[in-house]
Amino acid sequence: MNLLDEKLSDYAESHTSDESDVLRQLNRETNAKVMLPQMLSGHLQGRFLSMISKMILPKSILEIGTYTGYSAICLAEGLSNDGVLHTIDINEELEEMVTKYFDQSGISKKVKKYIGNALEIIPNINDTFDLVFIDADKINYSNYFDLVIDKVTPGGYILADNVLWSGKVVEDKKDKDTEAINNYNEKIQNDPRVENALVPIRDGIMIARKIID
Ligand code: SAH
Ligand code: CA
Repeated sequence: MNLLDEKLSDYAESHTSDESDVLRQLNRETNAKVMLPQMLSGHLQGRFLSMISKMILPKSILEIGTYTGYSAICLAEGLSNDGVLHTIDINEELEEMVTKYFDQSGISKKVKKYIGNALEIIPNINDTFDLVFIDADKINYSNYFDLVIDKVTPGGYILADNVLWSGKVVEDKKDKDTEAINNYNEKIQNDPRVENALVPIRDGIMIARKIID
């Protein structure tokens, strides 16, 4: 999933602030015990998400795709004191581990966890968002954008992960997920409600900012 060669990505990591002990432990436990541990954001992307969140200082964040909670903890680092992070995952088996690490990182008071299908849950969250992180099933990225755009504060941000999909977006023959991600990138590029930058960090993050009109 890393588009940079190993030497350069090691160099970037070694010039990036360390992850906290809790995040390092969560990273380890995910790799030891959970299926598809490569889905976890990891050190470099985690620090990037933390940095983005600290720039925005959001009052409210929505994360779609909690997995083991790594990116949620990073994003929460930028929350204002009375801020809240809503995070959704369909996989109930991860909940115990997520709860443990949210507690250890001291963010539990600020987090609202939802277990279930994000497509059904998002319309029932009665809040607006300064920052959204889309990182669940790739097939629904465009649907998630449609569900959140009216709930995003003007000047707020929608980040979407894995938008380069290991480089498959530029191949001629595209499988379903690649097609969905490509459609998402095209949609963002052509939607006048947002300005955007596709940042080729790790597996690619599309940053879209809702225009203030
Ligand atoms: N954001 C995490 C990784 C997320 S992996 C990190 O960076 O560390 C993607 C997650 O999306 C998986 O845990 C999967 O269970 C969840 N997911 C897939 N389809 C979903 C759906 N329809 N609704 C909610 N979550 C979903
Ligand atoms: Ca991801």
